[in-house]
Amino acid sequence: VCRHPRDPPRSPAMASLFADVPMAAPVVVFKLSADFPYRTDEGQPWVLPVVRKVEAQISNDLTLNHEYLPILGLPDFTQAASAIVLSKDSAAIADNRVGGVQCLGGTGALRIGAEFLRRWYNGNNNKATPVYVSSPTWGNHNGVFGGAGFTDIRSYKYWDKCTRGLHMKGMLKDMEDAPEFSIFVLHACAHNPTGTDPTHEQWMEIAKVMKKRHLFPFFDIAYQGFASGDLDKDAWAVRYFVDQGFEFFCAQSFSKNFGLYNERVGNLTIVSKDHDNVMKVRSQMEVIIRTIWSNPPTQGARIVAKTLNDPQLFAEWKENVKTMADRVLLMRDELRKRLEKLGTPGTWNHITEQIGMFSFTGLNEAQVEYMIKTKHIYLMANGRINMCGLTTKTLDYVATSIHEAVT
Ligand code: PMP
Repeated sequence: VCRHPRDPPRSPAMASLFADVPMAAPVVVFKLSADFPYRTDEGQPWVLPVVRKVEAQISNDLTLNHEYLPILGLPDFTQAASAIVLSKDSAAIADNRVGGVQCLGGTGALRIGAEFLRRWYNGNNNKATPVYVSSPTWGNHNGVFGGAGFTDIRSYKYWDKCTRGLHMKGMLKDMEDAPEFSIFVLHACAHNPTGTDPTHEQWMEIAKVMKKRHLFPFFDIAYQGFASGDLDKDAWAVRYFVDQGFEFFCAQSFSKNFGLYNERVGNLTIVSKDHDNVMKVRSQMEVIIRTIWSNPPTQGARIVAKTLNDPQLFAEWKENVKTMADRVLLMRDELRKRLEKLGTPGTWNHITEQIGMFSFTGLNEAQVEYMIKTKHIYLMANGRINMCGLTTKTLDYVATSIHEAVT
């Protein structure tokens, strides 16, 4: 039946045009535990000192204004961002076959990359290209690729429950079995949620199979520097894929390593065979962005660009990143030490072997429930804890609680 939106409602039950909209599951509740930001040892949010400093410089700089940025973003930002993941001596940068696109956070970079791939990769508007995400993965990967129109989102083996480590065999088999040209979303470092990354040798094997099977790597790097405390170490896999001659995308987030969660600073790095192809890809990115956010916001990109492009500020930033990474590493050490001292059944080496903000404790559902209901310690149902939630003051309580949960 045709009804003009201005016609009076048909019945009281239809009082609103949105009456038939179902209530979605609350994202915020999930977000609280899943995307928890860095906290200091006092449990407080931390504005990086270098960010405070650059913010002051920006606000005092009367030459700066609020004109629109170019559609693809602030060039000083995109170039510096790509250089930090690929390294400024990257052969791909020297060959002029790298392009950057400023996006709204890492999520925006994933989404714009996904939108481009759906439109132009593996045939025009090929929604059916399989997109593989790790099992488990950051919850939003499925939604982002689905939202961009991909209809065949699959998972590849990643976590081995028994060994509490990487399921290398399963992962390689899933890659071997994937249709050629499938897209693989790879966490470049500090895998979320397991905190478990492939070793260099394992990345080499992964690259070998991906090359043989013509699989497209889409890196997601949301924790560069935050994982090990060393920017270069955390970007090793991405750089190795450049060396191996891959064309790929890499979605970068500056939310964590700059503590700029609310400024939405991300970059999509495109590495292609030659300059010409990068230009074509960027031209299509421009078309996509024009109809989504049209032009990106300035403040976060300015902060990051100024910091990365000034040697002194850059050095300060690296120190700040290391402060955060070291705190997480310390919490890992201290938690493991306490559990081992208590003689908590099981092995706890995975706590220090995993990296990044998260740790897959290996606690089962009943144990997690005990932690939450009886001890009021909040962790994900899958046993993932956020290391930033731990402080010097709470370590003892958390360790004894895990001990009680297990015994
Ligand atoms: N990828 C992964 C793996 C993440 O963990 C996150 C943030 N939790 C993102 C991407 C998105 O980052 P942003 O907040 O910059 O959108």
